[in-house]
Amino acid sequence: MELLDENKCTGCTACYSACPVHAIEMKETKKGFFVPSIDSDKCINCKLCQKTCPEMNIEGINYNQPQHTYLAKNEDAIRMNSSSGGVFLSLAQEIIKREGTVYGAQYNSAIMVEHGRASDIKEAKKFCGSKYIQSNVGDAFSHVLDDLKSGKWVYFSGTACQVSGLINYLTKKNCNMDKLITQDFICHGVASPTFFADYKKALERKNRAKIVKFNFRGKPSPHKLQNIIVDFDNGKRFISASTSQDFFYHHFFKNLIIKPSCFNCKYANVKRVADITLGDCYHPINENINNDGYGISYFQVNTEKGLEFFGSIDTSNMELIETDCNKYIQPNMKAPSEKNPNYDAFWNEYETNGFKAAIKKYGNGSIKDEMKRIAAQIIYKLKTKGQVRQ
Ligand SMILES: Cc1cc2nc3c(=O)[nH]c(=O)nc-3n(C[C@H](O)[C@H](O)[C@H](O)COP(=O)(O)OP(=O)(O)OC[C@H]3O[C@@H](n4cnc5c(N)ncnc54)[C@H](O)[C@@H]3O)c2cc1C
Repeated sequence: MELLDENKCTGCTACYSACPVHAIEMKETKKGFFVPSIDSDKCINCKLCQKTCPEMNIEGINYNQPQHTYLAKNEDAIRMNSSSGGVFLSLAQEIIKREGTVYGAQYNSAIMVEHGRASDIKEAKKFCGSKYIQSNVGDAFSHVLDDLKSGKWVYFSGTACQVSGLINYLTKKNCNMDKLITQDFICHGVASPTFFADYKKALERKNRAKIVKFNFRGKPSPHKLQNIIVDFDNGKRFISASTSQDFFYHHFFKNLIIKPSCFNCKYANVKRVADITLGDCYHPINENINNDGYGISYFQVNTEKGLEFFGSIDTSNMELIETDCNKYIQPNMKAPSEKNPNYDAFWNEYETNGFKAAIKKYGNGSIKDEMKRIAAQIIYKLKTKGQVRQ
């Protein structure tokens, strides 16, 4: 049985979850991305894996035109732990109120990213905040199936390709999806788990301590919404000064470390597969919403079911205004991220000589860059002295 080449597969896990004889395993590529691998001894040639794969059945993908678009700011207690306006947690809260379950991406004990299941709000809070690494979905799809079969409401949050895979899987299982709410986000692409692991190791070496907490979107001060904050077990804290200076964000935004399939993303569109789509709004355009610099969410409700659900959430502590989606079209709502011309060379160098050599040759890891980074850190610390929120 042939599945997609690892560079085209999104790693959504639909084929893995659908296989009736468990002949598929999700394995890590050299870049650390999860892709399926078939054990031909176990395979019974039923082709269910191929039939369930969204990428191999593009004509079956159902894209929904956004029905309403909003900007929103949740109460500070939620917003400060979220990436932008903190809309996600209010949506999750409504499902918990209905005694349902919420699925989202969390850090595991090794500070790598995986999908988890929550049935109370404390657990659901672990999903708050963007983690820019491909999430290990594991057995989440089959747990969603079990929850729906037992009559529960389910909220699934993930990338558009994961949502698309889940819908195909549940369709093949003839599952009633009336109580399923899906939510994706505008997506630049998911980054390499291998790079992330090496990035963390480099920080640990430099600080001579173990990372105990990692946050991609730390909000250390107003209008600083894309700063990494890392806490170490010796009490030290690292705050990245800017996206261009930071090793992770530099390579992420230069499209050197995102998944190869993201360059051919079928979901980089205003029309979406999920009921609800979340995104960031950095600059509200002539809108009646106060931009205090601690994050505003952009979000689209794409289906009737999504609208009905959204109508039932508690928005009493939220600043919420309806807007026009045409005012906030981002590059990844029009087209996938473009492959960096040095992408293959970068990864050849990485696989041959490692993280340090690759970022030195193709990224921001040279001695000159290091000097700039030190200067930026000093300036940042001086500028934000007294301003940084605990
Ligand atoms: C890889 C990635 C790329 C993104 N690219 C863009 C972009 O180009 N433009 C834009 O406007 N917004 C982008 N976002 C979305 C944005 O950063 C916020 O997540 C979104 O605005 C929701 O914010 P919030 O404050 O409402 O909720 P938050 O509390 O931030 O909600 C986070 C939700 O995202 C889910 N999530 C987090 N990390 C992952 C992951 N690795 N895989 C699957 N699900 C995850 C969680 O399960 C949770 O439900 C991206 C997010 C990710 C993870």
